[in-house]
Amino acid sequence: MSNAELIYLDNAATTFPKPESVYQAMDQFYRSYGGNAGRGGNPLARKAASLVHETRELLKLWLSAPEVAFSPSATLALNTAILGADLGMGDVVYVSPFEHNSVLRPLAHLRKAVGIEVRVLPFDKQTFACALDDVRKQFRIDPPAMLCISQVSNVFGAVLPVDELSLLAKQANARAIVLVDGAQAAGLLLPTMERIDALIFSGHKSLYGPFGIAGLAFGTRWRPQPIFFGGTGTQSDSLDMPAQGMGRYEAGSQNIVAVAGLHAALLWLHEQGREHLQSHLNSLTHALVSALQSIPQATVYTPQQQSGIVSFTLEGISPQAIETALGAKNIAVRAGLHCAPWSHEWAGTLEQGGTVRVSGGWFSSEKEAAHLFDSLKAVV
Ligand code: PMP
Repeated sequence: MSNAELIYLDNAATTFPKPESVYQAMDQFYRSYGGNAGRGGNPLARKAASLVHETRELLKLWLSAPEVAFSPSATLALNTAILGADLGMGDVVYVSPFEHNSVLRPLAHLRKAVGIEVRVLPFDKQTFACALDDVRKQFRIDPPAMLCISQVSNVFGAVLPVDELSLLAKQANARAIVLVDGAQAAGLLLPTMERIDALIFSGHKSLYGPFGIAGLAFGTRWRPQPIFFGGTGTQSDSLDMPAQGMGRYEAGSQNIVAVAGLHAALLWLHEQGREHLQSHLNSLTHALVSALQSIPQATVYTPQQQSGIVSFTLEGISPQAIETALGAKNIAVRAGLHCAPWSHEWAGTLEQGGTVRVSGGWFSSEKEAAHLFDSLKAVV
C-alpha cells in the first residue's frame, strides 16, 4: 500500500505527513553541515550551533516564551519539570482526569518516593467543563504546590481552561508551580504564558516537526533542578551542571538533525499562521463530530472544539475491532487507552478497552472525514 492511498487520522500520535521543507532540511543537514552544536569552534560545529540558536528563537516567538530548553521528548521534558520541582512530603499536586502517563507515572513515583498527594480536578462528564467554583474552594482548603494539566486531552480532544486554572492556582498560592502538558496543542492554542511556569511541547505533534526534539518553554522565572547530568560543551572544568542558562537542561549532544527539521517546521508554521491552522482543525472537528453523531450506534466522547481529536465507540463492537476494520480499508486511527488510563476511568470506557480515537491534522481533509464516515457505516 502506498501512503497516497492511506487516510491517516492518527495525528495525535504524531502528525503525518510533515511539510515537505521538513524532509528537505533534515536531508540537507547530514549532507552539508552535520556538525555537533556547542562542541568546538570549527565551521560545522558553529553552523549547527547557530541552527540550534535560531530554532530556539523561533520557538520563543511561536510559543510566546522568554526561554526554551530542548529535550529529546515530551516525556523526558515532563520528567524534568516534575522531578526537578523539589516537591516534598504532603505537597498537593492537582491534575485533570485527562493526564497522560508521562505525567501520571512521574507523579506516582513521587507519591511513593516522597509522599506527595495527587488530587484530580472536577470536570463535567457531559460538557467537559471544569467546575471552577469547586476548584476555587478546593484550592483554598488545600493550596496547590503544583498544578499539572494538559492543554488538550489526547483522548477526547477537550480543550482545558488553562488560563482560568493557572490563575486560580497562583491566587491560592503565589508559589504554586504551574505545568502545562502541551504535547497535543503547543503552538496551536496560546495560553497566558505569564502564569505558566513551564509549557511542555513536542516537536513531532502539533509543531509538525520530527521525532527526537521537544522541550520546556518557560513562561516565568521558575526553573526546575536538572535531573540529567553530563557534558554541555561549557564550563567543562566543573563537575556541576552550569548554574544558569538552558544548557543545564541539555546534557549530551543535541539531536541536531531533529532541530533542523523543527526549524523548517517552525518557518512553515509561521508562514501558515496560527489562525489558519486553528480554523482548519475547527472545521475538521465539527465535520468529524457531526458525522459520527449521525450514526445511531455511535457514542461520541468529544465536545465541539478545535483540537482535531475525536473519540467514539460503536455499540457491540470493540474499539480494537473497529481499528482493525478501518485499517483494512486503509484508514489509520488508534483504539485503546492512549496511555491515559484515568481518562477512560473518568469516562467509563476502561472496561470496554477504551475508545477509538480519530485525529486529524493540517493535511487531513473533510473529504477524508466523509470517507471515514462511509467506511464506518459499512462496518456497522
Ligand atoms: N502528553 C500527551 C498529552 C501526549 O499525547 C503524549 C504523546 N502521546 C505525551 C505527553 C508524550 O509524548 P512523547 O511520547 O512524544 O514523549
